[in-house]
Amino acid sequence: MRHDYDVIIIGGGMVGATLAVALAKLPLQIAVIEAFPFRSNNQPSYDARSVALNYGSKKVFKSLAVWSELEAAASPIKKIHVSSQGQFGVTRLNAQDEGLDALGYVIENRVLGNVLLKQIEQHDNVTLICPAQLTDLSFNEDQAQVRIVQQDKSIPLNAQLIVGADGENSKVRELLDINVHKKDYQQTAIVSNVTPGKPHDNIAYERFTPEGPIAILPMTENRCSLVFTVASQASASIMELDDKDFLNELEKRFGFRTGGFSKTSKRFCYPLSLMKIDKHFKQRAVIIGNAAHALHPIAGQGFNLGVRDVASLVEVIADALRQQSDIGSSDVLALYEKARKKDQNTVARITDGLAQVFSNTLFPLTKLRSRGLLLADVIPPIKHSMAQHAMGLAGRLPRITRGLPL
Ligand SMILES: Cc1cc2nc3c(=O)[nH]c(=O)nc-3n(C[C@H](O)[C@H](O)[C@H](O)COP(=O)(O)OP(=O)(O)OC[C@H]3O[C@@H](n4cnc5c(N)ncnc54)[C@H](O)[C@@H]3O)c2cc1C
Repeated sequence: MRHDYDVIIIGGGMVGATLAVALAKLPLQIAVIEAFPFRSNNQPSYDARSVALNYGSKKVFKSLAVWSELEAAASPIKKIHVSSQGQFGVTRLNAQDEGLDALGYVIENRVLGNVLLKQIEQHDNVTLICPAQLTDLSFNEDQAQVRIVQQDKSIPLNAQLIVGADGENSKVRELLDINVHKKDYQQTAIVSNVTPGKPHDNIAYERFTPEGPIAILPMTENRCSLVFTVASQASASIMELDDKDFLNELEKRFGFRTGGFSKTSKRFCYPLSLMKIDKHFKQRAVIIGNAAHALHPIAGQGFNLGVRDVASLVEVIADALRQQSDIGSSDVLALYEKARKKDQNTVARITDGLAQVFSNTLFPLTKLRSRGLLLADVIPPIKHSMAQHAMGLAGRLPRITRGLPL
């Protein structure tokens, strides 16, 4: 049976575009349907944020032959300094102790978007349909049909497999009627780029405060990417502060390890929630990235988890092609679900646990986190295990994460 495409990816955000680049290596015709032009100011994925790519994601991008371009625009994280406001415990993770050049790399989402777009444009077997939006989805035994709207025109397309990479409010997930479990953290992340008073020396800081964690990540030109988590009810008043008062508020909670802060860029805010799903696929459609899981950014894991979704899905599809199986069949998609369920649940549990323990003023918990940080700092296996998780190297790794061919 002939299809318009083998795979249609809904959502060309960070995860959907990474999947397109990975699938382009296989003998497949791929379409990416994206609602916003990549370089527009209101593109929701390639926005003012930066992302901390862990070592596992670096290995995936290396296998996809895009790492050299990303590396040129990324800042390595050489050390991570973890502390808790009002507590003695401090944990330091060091790339050298792990035998690595870096524990992770910080890259601006917009830059990542430009690199991925360039890659997509270089592949003849990937068609970018943008701006266009998915409006409907239906199935018969042999194929899936989507209906998209492009310039007020409703267009039908069909494929063997549909991938929903359309973010936390996924239309694909809604049309598939997949249940979600959501928890509102009542916290909001305020994001901006700040300039520290002294050189950042490629150190990333995570500071836990009762209102929420503060992450300071090293960027190029001695800038730092700030993720300042506050109680949602206080976020509007903090957003309204002028730059000087905003930086004072930041220094009050973060302290002066970086020599204070002299400058901030425009601020943006993101309400935070945990979102999990019951099922990863239905019929000939599978959901990945933030369409399948949304996390507290406390450990910078959301996109890295999405990259692992991509690495598993391309492996399952490559194997199915080799065995001449139907890439959209339930048997094939069930293999993907099996491969991803545990990792997604574990990371959701860890980040949720961290968000609870480290955003709490209850005395036993404050004691526990202080002791936890001290313990982690003095016992090498705990530190090593923490570093392995932070680097995305824990558990079974898909082939492209191990640098092997698909
Ligand atoms: C403050 C903050 C800091 C973070 N820091 C980190 C970090 O350091 N490390 C990390 O790993 N993760 C981090 N994350 C998480 C990371 O940003 C997300 O996991 C990632 O953006 C998810 O990418 P995605 O492509 O799955 O979804 P999205 O980025 O939401 O992209 C979805 C795409 O689908 C498109 N779309 C939506 N609906 C439709 C439709 N109907 N038709 C067509 N297209 C559609 C959208 O336009 C968009 O381009 C952070 C998140 C926050 C909020």
